[in-house]
Amino acid sequence: MELRERALKVDSPFLEMVNQRSRQLIQLCYHCHKCTAGCPVAFAMDYGPDRVLRMIQFGWKEQVLNSSDIWICASCETCGTRCPNEIDIARVMDALRQIAVEEGLPTKERNVPLFHNLFLSIVKRLGRMHEASLMGLYFPLSRDLFSDLSIIPKGVKMILKGKIPLLPHRIKGSDEVEKIFERSG
Ligand code: SF4
Ligand code: SF4
Repeated sequence: MELRERALKVDSPFLEMVNQRSRQLIQLCYHCHKCTAGCPVAFAMDYGPDRVLRMIQFGWKEQVLNSSDIWICASCETCGTRCPNEIDIARVMDALRQIAVEEGLPTKERNVPLFHNLFLSIVKRLGRMHEASLMGLYFPLSRDLFSDLSIIPKGVKMILKGKIPLLPHRIKGSDEVEKIFERSG
């Protein structure tokens, strides 16, 4: 068997699942480390994108889905632009988050999915983001009241200046936005 054919052979169900979901060929990664070297949040991750891809190649589903990496990834796409094999790692991270949510796994960064879900539920309901509602829901539900107290005076200042409306309102066409959410299921 040719080297390339051997490299492209998929013999891990988890690798196949992530490839299909992300529409990437993760087995093309040869671990040059360029993605992790450019990732702005790799310092806060358990492994970094390059090692996450390696673990997917090995079929280490549990370790990958339990890692902080999939929730800390900011989808900035720096890694994909640096990859010599044009692997879109941001899409891979998205696919991993979807699989973790579908499988109901507890997440290491539990406040990140909470933030995502609150953000999306507000946009679904109002047709746009309402920051005051997001913060009003996020702080008590995350029980993360004191980690960044500097946000409170900044938020109050923005409300007083009229940059953030205090009360939420639905935009014209918000029904259409809600239908998009329902269609995308
Ligand atoms: S830049 Fe691409 S080939 Fe290099 S380690 Fe990252 S994913 Fe693999
Ligand atoms: S998309 Fe995610 S993994 Fe890639 S560089 Fe940005 S934060 Fe890092």
